[in-house]
Amino acid sequence: DYVMGGYHPVSVNDVYDDRYRVVEKLGWGVYSTVWRCLDAKSGTEIALKIQKSAPEYTNAALNEIDVLRTIQQQARSQNRESDVVVLVEHFYVSGPHGNHVCMVFELLGRTLLHAIQETGSLPLQEVRDITRCLLRCLAFVHDSVGVLHTDIKPENVLLCGPGRVKLVDLGTAFFLDKQTARDIQTREYRCPEGILGIWPFTPTADVWSVGCLVFELLTGETLFDPQSPRPGDAFTKDESHLAQAVELLGPIPPALLDKRARGHHWFTPQAQLRNISVAPPPPGCDAIARVLQDNFAFSPNDASDVSTFLARLLDYLPEKRASANLALSLPWLQDPPSF
Ligand code: ATP
Ligand code: MG
Ligand code: MG
Repeated sequence: DYVMGGYHPVSVNDVYDDRYRVVEKLGWGVYSTVWRCLDAKSGTEIALKIQKSAPEYTNAALNEIDVLRTIQQQARSQNRESDVVVLVEHFYVSGPHGNHVCMVFELLGRTLLHAIQETGSLPLQEVRDITRCLLRCLAFVHDSVGVLHTDIKPENVLLCGPGRVKLVDLGTAFFLDKQTARDIQTREYRCPEGILGIWPFTPTADVWSVGCLVFELLTGETLFDPQSPRPGDAFTKDESHLAQAVELLGPIPPALLDKRARGHHWFTPQAQLRNISVAPPPPGCDAIARVLQDNFAFSPNDASDVSTFLARLLDYLPEKRASANLALSLPWLQDPPSF
């Protein structure tokens, strides 16, 4: 990726925009590398995101700036915090691989992925605090700004205090009334309407990803782990993903399949997956609660409370799935926060 159109080569002690001195690499993604820098003007540390230079990455950066500005304006006009990372400014840097958009962000803590990797999983109370914080942020972004994030995952949610998080990576976010994206979300966190191509997307697409994230924070394992087909397999990765959903959440409602744009050959006329064998949970069996108890030593009460909560976030039907705002009022989140 360190080629024309790709990442900008960065070294420790490089100075950008005559003021930001690079201290260390914080992270990277498909679009960028991100660096902790000391701002010589203010004496504070910031995070510098240096985008790849090819046009599609530049466009994503300009979109990210546009969305972040709108979120910030809306938060200011409502005199509240957005819980989305604060964009301080942006500039361009020209290098051997092209012209790169650089975004200066407030410096946040480590990602939820780092947090999970360090301890295996997070304590129940901390997960509830994080979930509350994230849903509050999304309720604002969805309902007050009209934006869908589309890439909720542990790498894109950063700790900024005990049980407090902020959302980053608005590169693929879009305004709900101006959507053109057809393929959204990172595989493990992709909602059924994303897999099946049911457009336009609605805010609950992000809520599905939150459901997957909550399970992962509690267990250290992704809720879904779709398998790439091997030679001879008759199914695609999408079908493997849907099969795992059926095994945990039961059959896909025909009402959802009626609206789909892709995958017609994946199903029988009775709405059963055709190319991959699946066993839906037997009637009355709460499969997620079972997994939490059997594989992760949850008490029956905790397992059932978590599963009842997740069932509302993981409804197959986007219009029946809980909104971020409604999810905040569900019983699992009602204890007073610990911070
Ligand atoms: P993706 O491949 O998910 O689209 P990306 O290239 O758009 O990623 P970001 O997700 O914005 O990049 O940032 C990459 C990583 O950099 C994050 O996962 C995180 O580790 C780190 N990071 C980003 N912003 C900050 C920040 N404000 N403070 C501290 N670390 C950050
Ligand atoms: Mg990212
Ligand atoms: Mg991104």
